[in-house]
Amino acid sequence: MPELPEVEFVARELNRIVGGQKIATAELLRARLAPDSQIPDFGGLLDRAKINFVHRRGKNILFDLDNRRTLLTHLRMSGRFMLLNGQADDPKFTHAVLHFVDGSRLVFQDQRHFGLMKVIETARLDLDPSIAKLAPEPFSEDFGPEYLREQLARSGRSLKEFLLDQTKVCGLGNIYASEAMFRAGISPKRKARNVPGVRIERLHRCIVDVLAEALAEVSGRTPNPAAIGEGVYGDGASGDWRVYEREGGPCRTCSAPIRRIKQGQRSTYYCPKCQR
Ligand SMILES: [Zn+2]
Repeated sequence: MPELPEVEFVARELNRIVGGQKIATAELLRARLAPDSQIPDFGGLLDRAKINFVHRRGKNILFDLDNRRTLLTHLRMSGRFMLLNGQADDPKFTHAVLHFVDGSRLVFQDQRHFGLMKVIETARLDLDPSIAKLAPEPFSEDFGPEYLREQLARSGRSLKEFLLDQTKVCGLGNIYASEAMFRAGISPKRKARNVPGVRIERLHRCIVDVLAEALAEVSGRTPNPAAIGEGVYGDGASGDWRVYEREGGPCRTCSAPIRRIKQGQRSTYYCPKCQR
């Protein structure tokens, strides 16, 4: 599943290759991709609109249109975009297509059918349930150590579950949560409100660093407009995790075996010696 750095990369790529493009017609091929729209409406909301730019909030990719609407897309497990020319056939699992006036088209393909699209009035974007409850962006000034301190103090859940809650911390998925807790030296089992005050600043820095390093790594890849983001999804994005998917392997700091536990049905990896 793409996490925030991968989604940021995809949004930047889309902005580069379809920013400024004008949509001739939009086709919804799988109704459940956009449950809020009737199939004929989908085209009506998007046809003839120009894409001003593409940006992101949380893991939502946002196509800002010149008709005062925004097309929101969530990739979920396997959704991806492909910019194709007139001749190429639609690939299998094509669920939506934006046909551009220049003859090219942007295909949304989703093998596992969890992706989501929604057309929203841009003026009401921040009020949409997909956006409204999200925590501040991790690279923004609003996400500072003080913010983190306040949120931790209010939570009786484990630190791991706290970090995955996008209304508390935006952008950490299963991989980067484990990595950030390892770097901060804090046990994933510790209750959020019991994280010692003196370690919160460090935890904050580790969260931002883990995400920034992943983004830098992903950004170094060669873009392919016909397979946007290919090779950046899933567990292989870095392949050099300190704890993630390293159960039984030696901790790189103390050599103790890395442990795996289940928290909220998801695996957490940690070093029982380095993380307290
Ligand atoms: Zn260790």
